Amino acid sequence: MSSVAIKGWCPSAHRPMPSGDGLVARIRPRGGRLSAAQALAIADLADRHGNGLIDLTGRANLQIRGLRAQAHEPLLAALAQLALLDADAETESQRNILVAPLWSEGDDTHMLATALERALGERPLGLPAKFGFAVDCGNERLLAQNSADIRIERSASGGLMVRPDGSSNGRFVTRREAVPAALALAKWFLASGGANGGRGRMAAHIESGARPPHAVDDGAVPARAAPLPHPGVRAGGALVGIAFGQMQSARLRVLAEGASGLRMTPWRMIYVEGVREIPEHDGILGHADDPLLRVSACSGAPACEAAYAETRALAAALAPHMAAGAHLHVSGCAKGCAHPGPAAVTLVATADGFDLVRNGSTGDAPALRGLTRAELLADPPAVLGDR
Ligand code: SF4
Repeated sequence: MSSVAIKGWCPSAHRPMPSGDGLVARIRPRGGRLSAAQALAIADLADRHGNGLIDLTGRANLQIRGLRAQAHEPLLAALAQLALLDADAETESQRNILVAPLWSEGDDTHMLATALERALGERPLGLPAKFGFAVDCGNERLLAQNSADIRIERSASGGLMVRPDGSSNGRFVTRREAVPAALALAKWFLASGGANGGRGRMAAHIESGARPPHAVDDGAVPARAAPLPHPGVRAGGALVGIAFGQMQSARLRVLAEGASGLRMTPWRMIYVEGVREIPEHDGILGHADDPLLRVSACSGAPACEAAYAETRALAAALAPHMAAGAHLHVSGCAKGCAHPGPAAVTLVATADGFDLVRNGSTGDAPALRGLTRAELLADPPAVLGDR
């Protein structure tokens, strides 16, 4: 029996969430990867059952938008056929793993992500909905800036380690020990009272004074964090940006055709396996200097009912006026879903126009208030740069 989630929950395939443009159903690729055939099928499902729009989320998942309520059951059946559906909503929620996307077949990241996913699928632990794992075992850590509660990662001395978020140290592990150690840490989190009413995060738990057992924290410190990778062709494929983390089904088809698979990232980018050039299509960002890489925006109006204004067209119009390396975020309300962290400039839509925050996030004090769209677009350098 399909169900529709209470608004405000994280959407999933089993429990889609109502939004301004219909239901939103989230698809969690296994190991962060879709085969080309799975990606093409999702593009078809988005057209058949939704409004053709597909989000790439900050947790490296896809979302079909504009889903009609009566299309939920057929969508679940199709996802099951594609091996993209978990047994139930709880198993789906628990399989919350970010995988560093530039792995090679059989390396530590690939092997451990596969093993962790299998282990989490075997038995629900009762972890909170937002509780997640990261598997990030390259020589430099790619996911250091991305939210995760338990990390399997490379240590500075070259071995593997498991680390709770909020602690600068972790525990050295062998490849065989890594997944059991991560699960033991998750169970400690629950047993020590880290979860309350389906909520709770590791960093807050440790911040509150909880101490992982002595077996965790033997002085292992993580390897250096890598800078965010740029779009471009690499050995074995191409990393491409997806403007605003949203695409029409046609764009997903272009990416899948000619690829052996697509790996999702939490950076509004997709790694296209097996191609030697950047696929050409509107909204596929293949070059590091593309202005659209300097901006982000939440769904805004009309897709989100909470939004006070349209966001993405405004962000696109302002993008060329942002300096290289500076980031502009446009938020449809103060919640700041799409970019909770700070940006050089954050515009927050309110009932009275846009508030502008410098070097902060939606919750910080604005430098300017009540700007109209026309004022923002009339002389962007003056407003954005405080000329
Ligand atoms: S920040 Fe506000 S307007 Fe934007 S998606 Fe979140 S709730 Fe909607």
